[in-house]
Amino acid sequence: MRGVVFLGERELELREFPDPTPGPGEVVLAMKASGMCGSDLHPYRAPRTGGAAASLGLGGQGGPVIGGHEPCGVVAERGPGVSEAEAPIGQRVMNHHYKGCGLCKHCRTGWSQLCPHGITVYGMTGHGGHAPFMKAPAFTLVPLPDELTFEEGAAVSCGTGTAWGALKRLGVSGRDTVAIFGQGPVGLSGTMLGAAMGARIIAIDVSPERLALAKDFGADAVIDPRGTDPVQAIRDLTHGEGADAAVDCSANPDARRATVRCVRTWGQACFVGEGGTATLEVSPDMLRRQVTLHASWTFSSVGQAECARFVADRKIPLGKLLTHRFKLEQADAAYKLFDTQTTGKGVFLF
Ligand SMILES: [Zn+2]
Ligand SMILES: [Zn+2]
Repeated sequence: MRGVVFLGERELELREFPDPTPGPGEVVLAMKASGMCGSDLHPYRAPRTGGAAASLGLGGQGGPVIGGHEPCGVVAERGPGVSEAEAPIGQRVMNHHYKGCGLCKHCRTGWSQLCPHGITVYGMTGHGGHAPFMKAPAFTLVPLPDELTFEEGAAVSCGTGTAWGALKRLGVSGRDTVAIFGQGPVGLSGTMLGAAMGARIIAIDVSPERLALAKDFGADAVIDPRGTDPVQAIRDLTHGEGADAAVDCSANPDARRATVRCVRTWGQACFVGEGGTATLEVSPDMLRRQVTLHASWTFSSVGQAECARFVADRKIPLGKLLTHRFKLEQADAAYKLFDTQTTGKGVFLF
């Protein structure tokens, strides 16, 4: 089979790999949809030599791996020791794209990515979903609700699930006004999910196209920070108090500071965007106002299932998030497009 390998410096190739065969405890998935996530651009843009996984601080053996960490498909083959109940052939599944030791408290609670004994991140340091088949441990499978399409399952498998994880950390409810900085696939998912939770969403982005999508997906108000101070604008929209909670999905240092500064006294802020730095004036920005600052990395395997169930039960039109559909053979053009065009989300269909 052929799979997409990121070479760095904005080049990729469709490289030939042997079809995977499942070892003990493993299954092979026949891929149906494999999403493109913003964090794929880190290995895509990284320096050519050894910079791919390192660009996200994930380590890895450095060998060429198949990209794609939003895999969704059906169980095609079971390895020794995997029961019919664990992975029925033909079952529609997502992949929780991390493997740890399987034994520590983090692995046992579904948070394999927090394992202190070393992790594999599928699509980054282990073969991912940008290929017709993918091998993974049976414990990484998360059943896909019948109501969701495979491409929606792919979105839940990183970008949308990440927004879910952050909103859950913040305990967002219908009482809250929530500011979401950055309306890429994660931020737009946050807008959709937060609105479905009943919260009033204020969406912030520099792109008019993204802000139009945010409005369409349930944002009560939108702000372009190029023409307006977003912190003041959010205060103006909340009777001078500020938002109850705010999330940064942009990784932009100014947006990160505004995320902290725009919340009210006793408010909560959450960093989700990857990489880079942030500068805060700790006393005025945080201490004097009793601000709580969270950082949220994706979600547990249980959280992934909860997110999918929520999307299905609330009939959230997640398919509208997916603006571009590609065949795997179009991978080069697809990544070139999303390297520059920043609105919407792409997915490979099989
Ligand atoms: Zn572990
Ligand atoms: Zn991702």
